[in-house]
Amino acid sequence: MIFFGTGSASLDSVKTRNITCQHCNNQDTIYINIYRRHAHVFLIPVFPLGKSGSTYCTHCKETLSPKQMPEALKMQYKNIKGEAKGPIWQFSGLLIFALLIVFAIYSSGKNKEDTQLYLTQPAVGDIYEYEANNGSFSTMRLEKVTTDSLFLSLNDFEISKKSRIYKIDKDENYSEITYGYSKSEMIQMHKEGIVFDINRD
Ligand SMILES: [Zn+2]
Repeated sequence: MIFFGTGSASLDSVKTRNITCQHCNNQDTIYINIYRRHAHVFLIPVFPLGKSGSTYCTHCKETLSPKQMPEALKMQYKNIKGEAKGPIWQFSGLLIFALLIVFAIYSSGKNKEDTQLYLTQPAVGDIYEYEANNGSFSTMRLEKVTTDSLFLSLNDFEISKKSRIYKIDKDENYSEITYGYSKSEMIQMHKEGIVFDINRD
């Protein structure tokens, strides 16, 4: 499997005017082909690279790279190359990448909104993620809600990486004993970043 590579797209094929093939001496038998290269990852074009091209004589089959072109031919080649526009699909990868970023921003915003909602309207079973005094991370599970208080059972385990916190969120890790917090205390802990996320199934 090729992870990264380059490909190319044909942009234009234009017949030259008033050019004589230096190889077979026929006039107007030369075509200028323009293509644009692109980088691809997993065969998805990510972004376009430079344009290039060559000429092709339909009569004698001679092809010339830009370096080999006689001056008059090179002039026409440069004009055509300058005007040739590449297909938009060569930007596919960039577009996908942009969409992923938009989605990530949306998800993160949605998560913050949810946490705010769970904070003001707590429900039994909510999982509170918090940072412990020693810098490790753990969770609490909401077991009971009263008018002004929350009762949570602490997770017996802690984990050093915030991103791995889901690994310790297992039923058997929660102790029988619950701790009570007033709702305003919890809001304060969230403000201070001690409780940094609340999840609900
Ligand atoms: Zn020719």
